[in-house]
Amino acid sequence: MGKRSADLGQIVSDIAAQMRDQEDRGAVANYIPELAAIDPNQFGIAVATPDGKLYTAGDAGVPFSIQSVSKVYALAFALGSVGDQLWQRVGVESSGLAFDSILLLEQEKGKPRNPFINAGAIVTTDTILHGSSPKELLGALLRFIREAADDNSIHINEAVAKSEIATGNRNFALAYYLRSHGNLLCAPELTLGTYFHQCAIEMSCAQLALAGRFLVSAEGMPQLVSHERARRINALMMTCGHYNGSGDFAYRVGLPGKSGVGGGILVIAPGRASIAVWSPGLNQFGNSKLGTDAMHLLAKRTGWSVFG
Ligand code: GLN
Repeated sequence: MGKRSADLGQIVSDIAAQMRDQEDRGAVANYIPELAAIDPNQFGIAVATPDGKLYTAGDAGVPFSIQSVSKVYALAFALGSVGDQLWQRVGVESSGLAFDSILLLEQEKGKPRNPFINAGAIVTTDTILHGSSPKELLGALLRFIREAADDNSIHINEAVAKSEIATGNRNFALAYYLRSHGNLLCAPELTLGTYFHQCAIEMSCAQLALAGRFLVSAEGMPQLVSHERARRINALMMTCGHYNGSGDFAYRVGLPGKSGVGGGILVIAPGRASIAVWSPGLNQFGNSKLGTDAMHLLAKRTGWSVFG
């Protein structure tokens, strides 16, 4: 089931209008001081389709901190650099635990469950950082994202990165714990400095929807990775992209997605569209509350769930 283009414009503006009036908007992440100061009364949505169109509504042009959405790009980059060797250091199973949990790491001897929880993302960044410098790697990662979005203005917000370096004790704990198991090759400060900067990349919904097109695998969309690789990244987004809220998102939306504590979610409708939603208030899983609600509505109105 598909939707005619004319309808999509209407659908995104209807959703933005509905989200504007919501009273319960969730809670803004407060453990990164720079994010705690963001106005929760914002909502944006953008949908990029293979015919080259971009449908936007609400605050789709306002840049936000992509945070864990960056893990998708780090993963694509890592698979491009070391291929399946990555899976010797990180798994492909959902964790059923919060994004920053340390619990399973002891039981599973320092091998994180998947590349989207913090421990797994830290290992992924460490893998591509090894043999390079933070500056070189961040430059290459930015180039990859800029090429995906076809937008050279995408940049890192240095204040957000610094803010997280100052307060990221939990991530430091994860990194040292990984290192004690021999699963962190670079110095924890270097890997985390790179990881925090990667998370501090800023994009608007419009930019993020464009930057996600390479995962749609459709004619008319940029092809930066093979179809097989895109399929696997999408599988991980579906099963692990929302941490312990992944089942909830799959049940309500039925599309692969990756959230970030900045309130952004990148969602892929395979063969159909790349979608970005953003609203800074988070639900109990640390995923955008209104972003999830909006995706629920979009999936319902378009019939785009991969489950038919
Ligand atoms: N930079 C954040 C952290 O490591 C990313 C977490 C997230 O977006 N869920 O805590």
